[in-house]
Amino acid sequence: MKTIITDSPEEAAAILNAGNIVAFPTETVYGLGAGICHPDAVSKIFIAKERPSDNPLIVHVADVDQIGDVAAELNEHAKKLVERFFPGPLTLVLRKNPHIPVSVTAGLDTVGVRCPSNPIAHEFLRRACCPVAAPSANISGVPSSTNWETVYKDLAGKISCILRGNPSEIGLESTIVDCSGPVPLLLRTGAVTLEQLQDVVPETIPAPHTEKSTPPKSPGLKYPHYAPEASIVLIRHGEPVTAAPQSAYIGRGETPEGVAVTKKCRSLEEYGRELFSFFRQCDAEGIRVIYCELPENRGLGRAIRDRLQRAAGEH
Ligand code: AMP
Ligand code: MG
Repeated sequence: MKTIITDSPEEAAAILNAGNIVAFPTETVYGLGAGICHPDAVSKIFIAKERPSDNPLIVHVADVDQIGDVAAELNEHAKKLVERFFPGPLTLVLRKNPHIPVSVTAGLDTVGVRCPSNPIAHEFLRRACCPVAAPSANISGVPSSTNWETVYKDLAGKISCILRGNPSEIGLESTIVDCSGPVPLLLRTGAVTLEQLQDVVPETIPAPHTEKSTPPKSPGLKYPHYAPEASIVLIRHGEPVTAAPQSAYIGRGETPEGVAVTKKCRSLEEYGRELFSFFRQCDAEGIRVIYCELPENRGLGRAIRDRLQRAAGEH
């Protein structure tokens, strides 16, 4: 299959509207989209990404008004979160509308809904004939794509189009909050932090760990994620390191002596933005060990820790 690369949201939407799959930029990471009115196209996403079919997709809408096309009526908590954080890097899990294809929700009676703030994504979604189901635009298991070049590397020849934009400003996947029950549950951390959510809805809590025997609240979180080929070693701020050969460092601390590749970040925002592209750069350069500073478990640090611990195989 030929993969068209375009800068035109209009052209990319026309390709999507014809029943094809299209990668597009968002402020979190690049997405790989199919119109939910084209169930065959939704199936193509799972094939192109090699994604397990029990891992549901997030549905993207151009505007808040479109949420009603995807989800049943919002409860009071969901309304407050939409008002404060949409458009932006927050996904809400809501009771679904019956017409959403089963392949999108992996058979759940809920659906994840997000309204991206990236202007190119907005333009693309506005021209799409229906809401767009989209996971991250990468082969399952590897770090998410935060620029169009890595989308091309993973998916060229397997998808119909890449809508080219700038690198993602946030670089980490959206925060996911389950608002389908009486208490909002934080399922995945991201740029919208637990503290910010609790400012708006104080009842919000991190989802309790589920027992292995019960079905997970967010099926995708049981799969390995974000792992580069290099091994990840997590280090605390200021912890001394004896660098292994062909190693790298990312974080806000002092670069350990002897590492071959370094990304020194001036803020947590920069750390989050650079993390996945740094992992991919290290793999391209044959790095074998990546030392990563483990930030404190609050604010954006919570989201970076989660990605680092998953990349290190810790959960
Ligand atoms: P990705 O877009 O690749 O970051 O993956 C989407 C994530 O959203 C996965 O971890 C899914 O498990 C999660 N997700 C999507 N829809 C739902 C839902 N209805 N309920 C719970 N989690 C969901
Ligand atoms: Mg993903």
